[in-house]
Amino acid sequence: MGKVVLKFGGTSVGDVAKIKATAEQAIREKEKGHEVVVVVSAMGKSTDHLVNLAEQINPKAPSREMDMLLSTGEQVTIALLAMAIEHEGHAAISYTGWQAGLVTEEIHGNARIQNILTTNVGKALDEGKIVVVAGFQGLSENGEITTLGRGGSDTTAVALAAALGAEKCSICTDVVGVYTSDPRYISEARKLAEIDYDEMLELANLGAGVLHPRAVEYAKNFNIPLEVRGAHVVEVGTMIKEGNLLETKQVVRGVAFDDKIARIRVSFKSVDKMNVACIFTKLAEEHVNVDIIVQSIGEEAGPSAVSFSLKEADLEEALRVLEQNKAAIGYHDLVTESGLAKVSIVGSGMVSNPGVAAQMFTVLRNAGISVRMISTSEIKVSVVVPEVKMLEAAEVCHQTFDV
Ligand code: ASP
Ligand code: MG
Repeated sequence: MGKVVLKFGGTSVGDVAKIKATAEQAIREKEKGHEVVVVVSAMGKSTDHLVNLAEQINPKAPSREMDMLLSTGEQVTIALLAMAIEHEGHAAISYTGWQAGLVTEEIHGNARIQNILTTNVGKALDEGKIVVVAGFQGLSENGEITTLGRGGSDTTAVALAAALGAEKCSICTDVVGVYTSDPRYISEARKLAEIDYDEMLELANLGAGVLHPRAVEYAKNFNIPLEVRGAHVVEVGTMIKEGNLLETKQVVRGVAFDDKIARIRVSFKSVDKMNVACIFTKLAEEHVNVDIIVQSIGEEAGPSAVSFSLKEADLEEALRVLEQNKAAIGYHDLVTESGLAKVSIVGSGMVSNPGVAAQMFTVLRNAGISVRMISTSEIKVSVVVPEVKMLEAAEVCHQTFDV
């Protein structure tokens, strides 16, 4: 039997009992004959607590020092878990990200993994040990500690699975799988047996939260079968893999939604005054992320406009940037709207089924929900709607497409 990588998130290692349960699960995998690597997050909400401490001391803390601080969370868990496994009579060894050979670029707070030197992990596995690795952290070539972005332990797990040639990577978490929509709000949401990489990537990017988007990207690039399952339960989870799924009839595989969105409409007296590049360059320079962009060109000398959506929390900063650069951008007027939400349907089957978008707009219209913006990809349709209508919109889409 081959290598397996198991990853446990913060809630699943949040206290002593859960660390012991995690140790037992790792041992069960080992006893099945696998070589076992366990990647863990910081216990419970400890990363949030560390962020909070830093904010009280210095709201503009250097990002290098933030990484120095946040990387300690995972180091606590690895030591405790290795001790728990040893206590059950099995050999284990814990490694920090750098001991496990995770080399990253030197971008503090959001580094990408560049390379994994698996010497230590490989040797420990050969010696029959269960290897426990700290998620979310690595080392740059200059020897600086880096972190991979919030939720980044998933990515550590998948990257290690790829580097080790593992047969599977299981993300063990506080939900039992990937759902068609958020079961807390959508009455008919159900657990999926399977989903393909591209669909999962869209859902993760749309804020489905269950997986770090970069982890899905990695799994896709290296063709690692990825499982999302409940920690410490026997129930099977959801498999994320390449195409050819059993439930092929389904056009839409998931419905995602995200609140607290705002829209800015920048209008111009005429099209030749319109410096769209300048808008988005200035916003990018100030690290304001925008999402959907819609441009409309007026006839001849008529009004033209660019509308875009962004997080409500970034609205004030975006307005400051736009006003500061008004002359360079060349705009005439600016309107904002907040209290919006984005609802999206995702499914690989859309590629070969025309009319999915039309059907979505029709049901929303029949439900009296006004659509403010639209964006599509081959396997996704997103609409921006009033926030108060978000759940209703998601619910009708879920019903209509029989997700
Ligand atoms: N502990 C980190 C966080 O809370 C990384 C992770 O949990 O994946 O974001
Ligand atoms: Mg997570």
